[in-house]
Amino acid sequence: MTAATHEDFINLAIELARAKVAEGGLPYGAVVVLDGKVIGDSSKRNPTLPAYLDHAELVAIMNACAALKAPKLPNGCILYSNCESCDLCSSAAKWVGITEAHFAINTDDAKDIGHHDDMFIDRPAKLNLNHHPRPDHKTEMKDWYDKNWRPAT
Ligand SMILES: [Zn+2]
Repeated sequence: MTAATHEDFINLAIELARAKVAEGGLPYGAVVVLDGKVIGDSSKRNPTLPAYLDHAELVAIMNACAALKAPKLPNGCILYSNCESCDLCSSAAKWVGITEAHFAINTDDAKDIGHHDDMFIDRPAKLNLNHHPRPDHKTEMKDWYDKNWRPAT
């Protein structure tokens, strides 16, 4: 038996996307792989997950964390999806410890077929961020970081 390749896991993500479409869902699928084994995929979704969080990559990441009973994933986990991850999913992948992703359709290809992330990419300008600094505004965060955060060495 030969080891699975990146193409094999991308094909699995594509199969999950096709299955989702067959159920009436959106055309996205993803898997998280560790040491050549799928540890989470997008097939089992929490029905209470709101649409804005119901992204294949997020679901696969959450299922991988649930399978390992861990809030973060160990080094070496790889994210595979049928389409390049949006900013939300890319950020979640980074937060959870994933450093490598592979996909079949990039954002330019997706635009060509009607998918547009532009509204999300432009969001910071539309969000109207307002900064209100105060003399003690960092106290709670600084206390927590001083007690809990250990930078990687
Ligand atoms: Zn996403």
